[in-house]
Amino acid sequence: MNDSNTAHLGAPARRLDVIIVGAGFGGMYAVYKFRELGLAIQGFEAGGNVGGVWYWNRYPGARVDLPSIDYSYAFSPEIEQEWTWKEQFAAQPELLDYINFVADRLDLRKHIQFNTRVTSAVWDEARQLWRVTTDQGDVCEAPICIMATGPLSIPKDPEIPGLASFKGDLLRAAKWPHQPVSFAGKRVGIIGTGSTGIQIIQEIGPQCGELFVFQRTPSFTMPMRNEELTPDYVAEVKRNYKSIREAALNSAVGGVRPTSTRGFFTVTPRQRQSLLEDAWKQGGLNMLGTFSDLLLNEEANEHVAEFVRGKISEMVKDPATAEALKPRGYPIFARRPCLDNTYYDTFNLPTVHLKNCLVDPILEITERGVRLESGEVELDMLILATGYDGLTGALMAFDVVGRGGLTVNEVWKSGARGHLGLMMAGFPNLFLTTGPTGPAALANIIRTSEHDVDWIATAMAHMDAKGLTAMEPTPAAEDRWMAIVAALAERTLVSKAKTWYVGANVEGKSQGLTMFTGGFVKYREYCRTAAEAGYTDFTFEPAREMATA
Ligand code: NAP
Repeated sequence: MNDSNTAHLGAPARRLDVIIVGAGFGGMYAVYKFRELGLAIQGFEAGGNVGGVWYWNRYPGARVDLPSIDYSYAFSPEIEQEWTWKEQFAAQPELLDYINFVADRLDLRKHIQFNTRVTSAVWDEARQLWRVTTDQGDVCEAPICIMATGPLSIPKDPEIPGLASFKGDLLRAAKWPHQPVSFAGKRVGIIGTGSTGIQIIQEIGPQCGELFVFQRTPSFTMPMRNEELTPDYVAEVKRNYKSIREAALNSAVGGVRPTSTRGFFTVTPRQRQSLLEDAWKQGGLNMLGTFSDLLLNEEANEHVAEFVRGKISEMVKDPATAEALKPRGYPIFARRPCLDNTYYDTFNLPTVHLKNCLVDPILEITERGVRLESGEVELDMLILATGYDGLTGALMAFDVVGRGGLTVNEVWKSGARGHLGLMMAGFPNLFLTTGPTGPAALANIIRTSEHDVDWIATAMAHMDAKGLTAMEPTPAAEDRWMAIVAALAERTLVSKAKTWYVGANVEGKSQGLTMFTGGFVKYREYCRTAAEAGYTDFTFEPAREMATA
């Protein structure tokens, strides 16, 4: 590493080879990968430790909704053998233990500066370096900057007047306190019934004096049927990790999950019913995998939605509450499908009250609680599970300035753009992991992170071999990629719900599906081809004299 004084650009900068922003799954793997390549690296992380969303989201009931076996790193056979998962769907403490185990085992923390938020990243065109500053006064420079900032790292408060006036305890799911929180004897309110809200509600419902659930849009949720993993099962998995990973890489979602080639209307109504009943009993995401066309055929989708609505009626005793819990008006699976353990049972407790904000809207938050059109609900505690400025929020939250003063904020004003989810025209050597124009939230984020970091390393090796220092996609390649993304988005029902997937949850945000919905296998193929075809979609620059000075 060189320490060069670049005082002509402001504060003296520390010179590095690679700067990595974020220390979730993607950032940690990037730190490991580039350290092993012998490069001078520095990671920055706003949180106090590794873990990303799993560091912040310590709310009661937080749990992964993919099998833990899949939701883990594949790059280290040693770690696969040394770590033993306890539950099929691990809870947040087990996930954080795993992440910390990996950080310790690979000695990653010494490369990451915690409690540090990156405030700007500016491309210095003359010197072909990214200049990165932080809220702790750091100034670093490196030819390569990797934004491992994740699709869900900017939590979003609801746009409800009066939030600041609430005098009780205000808790945010995405910034949950590190100390235990007691709900006993308290009147607790929760706003938000997405994946996060559902997990919190089922966990704390029985613990609260009273729980008031302020629901605007109901979510579809299906039984998780979580279980402890037996030693025999774990041993079997450890023997077969290689083939499990292979299967995940060759699946549409980057994980081992049931899939089918059977179209919904190719079987009789009686067979459909029996297949759906089986899937419901098995739990997990079996429902989605029962038929091949549930995200393509609106009529098939509605049949499955109606099946789940029927289950809600069976589980929730009060018919009016059951009715209010039934999602309508958007396709099932178009919002992130939730998996629960006891969500619907929670509403059978006499102390849990559903407030249907579609018919009785929230007017304001007051000193004492939440005022609905029908009157005020007094609360001791209010929990916000109101989601994130997803996909683009993290990179639009600070100054990322590319060639000629071009900012990510300008480029993404009308929606995310990029090539392969990995790079953007005008931003040389700025690499994204799980970027908003790749599969992002639609595939296993760990498989995608590993894939993306490996792709970046290969691209860097290509530049090294050819004596090149900077690469970026051509505007034409980016246009072609965005056209592919848009054409796929047209076909899928995922576009048809108002969710964070399409930016609909943030006021004033440009809306549209920019994630690649063609599946993980196809995505990998596009990325592989881009490299194997000699990076013809990219322009490269040779080293300039100043950069090596
Ligand atoms: P979300 O799905 O965006 O849900 C936010 C909830 O807040 C929605 O119910 C929304 O209602 C409600 N809300 C927002 N503003 C409101 C307002 N002004 N008034 C009333 N309600 C309001 O966010 P999330 O639940 O945090 O989930 C985000 C993503 O995180 C998930 O899709 C998933 O990818 C991930 N996640 C995964 C897990 C897991 O692995 N198990 C767990 C948690 C989260 P409307 O829909 O009406 O706007």
